[in-house]
Amino acid sequence: LSDRLTSTFKNLRTKGRLSEADIDATVREIRRALLDADVAVPVVRQFTGAIRERALSAEVSQALNPAQQVVKIVNEELVSILGGQTRTLNLAKNPPTVILLAGLQGAGKTTLAGKLALHLKGQGHTPILVAADLQRPNAVTQLQVVGERAGVPVFAPHPGNQGADDVLPQGADPVAVARQGVETATARQHDVVIVDTAGRLGIDAELMRQAADIRDATNPDEVLFVIDAMIGQDAVTTAQAFLDGVGFTGVVLSKLDGDARGGAALSVASVTGRPILYASTGEKLTDFEVFHPDRMAGRILDMGDVLTLIEQAERAFDQDQAEKMAGKLAAGEDFTLADFLEQMQQLKKMGSMKKMLGMMPGMGQMREALENFDEREVDRIEAIVRSMTPGERDNPKIINGSRRARIARGSGTTPTDVNQLLERFDGAQKMMKQMARNGGGMPGFGNLP
Ligand code: GDP
Ligand code: MG
Repeated sequence: LSDRLTSTFKNLRTKGRLSEADIDATVREIRRALLDADVAVPVVRQFTGAIRERALSAEVSQALNPAQQVVKIVNEELVSILGGQTRTLNLAKNPPTVILLAGLQGAGKTTLAGKLALHLKGQGHTPILVAADLQRPNAVTQLQVVGERAGVPVFAPHPGNQGADDVLPQGADPVAVARQGVETATARQHDVVIVDTAGRLGIDAELMRQAADIRDATNPDEVLFVIDAMIGQDAVTTAQAFLDGVGFTGVVLSKLDGDARGGAALSVASVTGRPILYASTGEKLTDFEVFHPDRMAGRILDMGDVLTLIEQAERAFDQDQAEKMAGKLAAGEDFTLADFLEQMQQLKKMGSMKKMLGMMPGMGQMREALENFDEREVDRIEAIVRSMTPGERDNPKIINGSRRARIARGSGTTPTDVNQLLERFDGAQKMMKQMARNGGGMPGFGNLP
């Protein structure tokens, strides 16, 4: 173990920065994960380029090994592109708050209208839905069904026509319906209006203009672009078309319950710079979530465990302790057996991460190091140190043959074990002294060999 410690410390002293090879290996893994998650190719290229640059200039972390450190940077960048904090709905100072839904046909707008209404109702709002999709004969009916399930009223043209699936309201104008809907909401004191609009299967200039006209007629506080998370590589062109044609203030990802790993989220957020507010995760009205950038970052990289790992590593490396030690060494004090024991215990804490490391790409090396690290050895070291008198701990040089035999008996070990420990400690102490002389920082266990 002391050999390993030695090379760890050496590594740390020579490595002022992460090595290019370390970074490239990890970035390769990240690129693969992003492409697997269906993130658009140009977005992947731009993203990994930025990651590489940031990693190259990053200071070496004491708590993390290079792969972990790159993963941490990736996670931070992902969270930041996805909007950083969870973004809440923009409410109008003077109600009603108008929310316009836009997106391709089948994206999930009408379903979302019901889900969002139910969600807002749960928060004490009094939403009303407006059926401004008059493109398909049954679109109005569909919204009415959704409204009924959510227990919120629906404003629709020609109430007399409600049940007739095959008859479009004669001459009904979606722009006029939307405007009347907002007027009605104001008059009846609903504090939120959700306007459902029509979409086509492909990007379509006429419908885009219609949505823009509805936007101008209703002056929405939020335009939410609803996009099917399964759309994959098409996410970028679709989002860009809606951004240019209608403009939107936020994104809703729908069908996030399928196999979609959410690559579309990153693509859309990255290309449009608009935050994602909600996720739709099923056909039921309650399959709806407020969007959390950090959780989605984890899902995209499929690295929930990686994040747990990073947190554990950071915790395992006790910052205070490191600073205390650095101060001690700088003041010319000795590195004691107690200090040595503490360091061993840090390593033991990291040892519990063995299993997790095994599940991660690019972590094989670190896992191997921990695999060879015997946690029982730390217990043995601890028992030996505890069996020493304070005088012996302060100055192990006084430990002669009979003291050695007593310590071995007291700790349930052999005199050879005691000897080995003292030799290791001696090596570690010499190294610490040298580091203190070189003005080096406190060695952490971040770069396990
Ligand atoms: P619109 O054309 O944009 O209004 O889309 P719809 O709301 O009519 O949804 C199209 C289809 O997708 C319907 O069959 C919905 O039941 C379904 N759908 C909508 N959102 C989700 C979702 O989050 N998960 C799943 N599995 N299906 C959804
Ligand atoms: Mg619809």
